[in-house]
Amino acid sequence: MTQGFVTQDLLIGGDRLPADSGQYTELIDPATGDAWIKVAAAAADDVDRAVQVADQVRSPWRRVNSRDRTQLLLKLATLIRENLEPLAQLESRNVGKPIRDARDEVNLAADCFEYYAGVVNKIGGQTTPVAAAGTHLTFREPIGVCGLIAPWNFPIAITAWKVAPALAMGNPVVLKPATQTPLTALRLGELALEAGIPPGVFNVVPGAGSVAGEALLRHPLVRKISFTGSTEIGMHVMRTAADDLKRVTLELGGKSANLVFADADLDLAVPKVMWSVLGNAGQDCCARSRLLIQRPVYDEFLHRLTQQFQALRIGPPLDESTEIGTLISTQQRDRVLDYITLGQQEGATLLCGGTVPTESPLDRGAYLTPALFAHATPNMRIAQEEIFGPVLCAIPFDTEEEAVAIANTSLYGLSGSIWTRDIGRALRIARAIETGVLSINTGHSVHLEAPFGGVKHSGIGRELGLAVLDHYSEWKSIFIAE
Ligand code: NAD
Ligand code: MN
Repeated sequence: MTQGFVTQDLLIGGDRLPADSGQYTELIDPATGDAWIKVAAAAADDVDRAVQVADQVRSPWRRVNSRDRTQLLLKLATLIRENLEPLAQLESRNVGKPIRDARDEVNLAADCFEYYAGVVNKIGGQTTPVAAAGTHLTFREPIGVCGLIAPWNFPIAITAWKVAPALAMGNPVVLKPATQTPLTALRLGELALEAGIPPGVFNVVPGAGSVAGEALLRHPLVRKISFTGSTEIGMHVMRTAADDLKRVTLELGGKSANLVFADADLDLAVPKVMWSVLGNAGQDCCARSRLLIQRPVYDEFLHRLTQQFQALRIGPPLDESTEIGTLISTQQRDRVLDYITLGQQEGATLLCGGTVPTESPLDRGAYLTPALFAHATPNMRIAQEEIFGPVLCAIPFDTEEEAVAIANTSLYGLSGSIWTRDIGRALRIARAIETGVLSINTGHSVHLEAPFGGVKHSGIGRELGLAVLDHYSEWKSIFIAE
């Protein structure tokens, strides 16, 4: 695949350009440890160029009529689907995720452009009966150049979550993909040009967070930052954006919980609980990395879960049968391994996994067998900190009140799942848990059509649904006196 894909340049104003400095970042294939591609590393002057270009197309882009803007976004969705296989292969190889998952995520990106293509000509302002003689009108104005900063775990999907609503509301964007995973974002930018989206509307500037990301954060012509990544950098983004009052939305970390009650359908719950944390090898802000189990079913649940953990097919990302690929890098694996050591020191019982495969070809890549801890307590660091890897820690509980209290013993508040046949209890608990998103009897909680985001240290603002449109537009009120 992708023969001749040796270097990749920035995408600014419709042109592929090297960084001014001539610098490139080498990307490492996480399945082999080999460098396979070089990507131009943007610095402040490159970011400035991209922002200037975006600012220049601000006015023409907002004036593109609603039908044409819808058509452009739909065309991009079609091109994404036509390029599904190469995009999925690129993503799978870059991130180390199973090819089957990568295909789903590419489809999700296309779905996202279709969804926001549909809102362009349906979302407008209002007339409001104000207490004054005259007519009051509201408009939803674009904000201006949006700086989008994306993470490495779901590169194309999260890029689409940000780019599609930003463009739909009439904003140009400058996207800074994660340093490790710029490839599908660059390809998406090219497809946008092919779809007819004017040059300069969608720019992509790969580079280091501390250089390119920082330059975007500090650029005076950037009016809004949408960031997905760690809580630590998210806080820095918000502090820095405050200097010129840029609008900010943040999607940050999580330490979400599964709450399994004794009346749950265990046949359903066991595999779904497993995938609620092991999807994308646990590198998911929504990962339900805490497992709270009611005592009567605690032993049985863990027994069954251990068997399923051990039966997982870990393998090369591009193999059709692979269920779990690599982590993003060996550095990330080392970080996760440190947590596994810590969990044992803290007194949790490692039931299985947490080992580095030694057989070929897995020995060359950033592989790790999924780890399951029993007898964790709510305040252990492994039960409090976001590990961002295939690690689940189980905590027993007795009562509903206790389960809710444990679930809420977290600085984070993103997601979670409740497993019970008692719908009254499920809803009562869902309301009592402090998170932005929750699901009942499923480990899945992201729906394009509905708001997604966190409370507490998991972030500010919402992505997706119609809710995100408020974060890519400003209300303008106009009053006409009689
Ligand atoms: P990070 O927060 O450092 O990076 C996220 C994005 O921000 C990347 O594009 C990065 O280049 C950029 N960035 C970094 N420093 C910046 C700065 N000073 N100014 C502007 N942009 C900057 O995340 P990471 O280092 O890639 O991963 C570390 C941890 O973050 C993970 O282990 C995980 O806990 C968490 N994380 C969460 C998510 C999520 O979906 N919420 C995604 C990725 C990582
Ligand atoms: Mn970082």
